[in-house]
Amino acid sequence: MNTNHHFGILALAALSGLAACTRAPAPAEPAKAQEPMKQESTADEPGAPGHTPYANMPKIAPIGVRIGKHFDVPAGARGPEVDPAKGYRLQDLGNGLYMVTDNIYQSMFLVYDKGVVVVDTPPNYAANLPKAIAEVTDKPITHLIYSHAHKDHIGGTKALGGKPIIIAQEETARLLKRDNDPDRPLPTVTFKDKYTLEVGGKRLDLSYHGNAHLPGNIFISAPEQKVLMVIDVAFPGWMPWRRFAVAQDVLGSIAQLDEIAKLPWETLVGGHVARTGTHADVDMQVEFYKDLKQAAGQALSSTKPGEGVNPEDMKNPWAIYDDYIDRVVVQCVNTLTPKWSTRLAAYDVYIWDQCYSMEQTLRIE
Ligand SMILES: [Zn+2]
Repeated sequence: MNTNHHFGILALAALSGLAACTRAPAPAEPAKAQEPMKQESTADEPGAPGHTPYANMPKIAPIGVRIGKHFDVPAGARGPEVDPAKGYRLQDLGNGLYMVTDNIYQSMFLVYDKGVVVVDTPPNYAANLPKAIAEVTDKPITHLIYSHAHKDHIGGTKALGGKPIIIAQEETARLLKRDNDPDRPLPTVTFKDKYTLEVGGKRLDLSYHGNAHLPGNIFISAPEQKVLMVIDVAFPGWMPWRRFAVAQDVLGSIAQLDEIAKLPWETLVGGHVARTGTHADVDMQVEFYKDLKQAAGQALSSTKPGEGVNPEDMKNPWAIYDDYIDRVVVQCVNTLTPKWSTRLAAYDVYIWDQCYSMEQTLRIE
């Protein structure tokens, strides 16, 4: 460690007179005139950033680098304000159906003649769910539907109290058995493809469309209210959460978004962000994914592994590919930024993540 450090200082001192030159894009001619140039990277501690960044490095800071101030959130991506004293807001979706949200998470409940059906219990505000329900009814919670197994959407179930019937897709039951988490009680009713819940003349259609975000993640349709709830696939007005919202199947998640776009709902509850979604929102995300796929594909085919890698690293395939993938992603980010940086809220937060995820998907799937 010490030796390396000393070496670093000595080498830096030796090269200090060339600092301006080593940082420049290095035109071929002057570089030849100054012989230490070819060894420039050995001035670094192994593992430290090189003196010369990748060509065309985007202005948006890459993963792991602190950003001073992010892009402003466009007005159209913001939702109605949440009363800070309450910590949640209720949105009437019609005919006894309500969305509850803290403008970060979203869940629903349906009031029928004898009780209440809850869909999801995000721990973010689950303690307030009984209060939110009490704003519109004093009927008991009789059913709970899990959209999928993820803790951040159903981990607040205990706050509901009582012993509701819990309905989930069978893959969700399998994952919850594996996870053995007291905060996510096992479902009491499971189904494979479709399940219709009819209570007091009100109806919810549950259906499974295969793996995308997570095995067991279902579509929840309220046909009378023209509401569709699918969690962690569509992000109205926003850049999706990192790496396609950590989709277990990226291409599956893209295909599922296409499916959502074609269904005849009017209001989409996506599980996140500050407002419900419209078809225009979903269509925009479909277009973004199309552009992202194209940008990553083009960057993969026009970039060569190994170019500019320190010759000493040429027997380290991980290093060669890391460098290659970085350059692919630099190109992907640069291709997308002019069109998308002002159209999706938080574009700058996750564009690197999305490009890394997409290049990986295209390269191995
Ligand atoms: Zn999830």
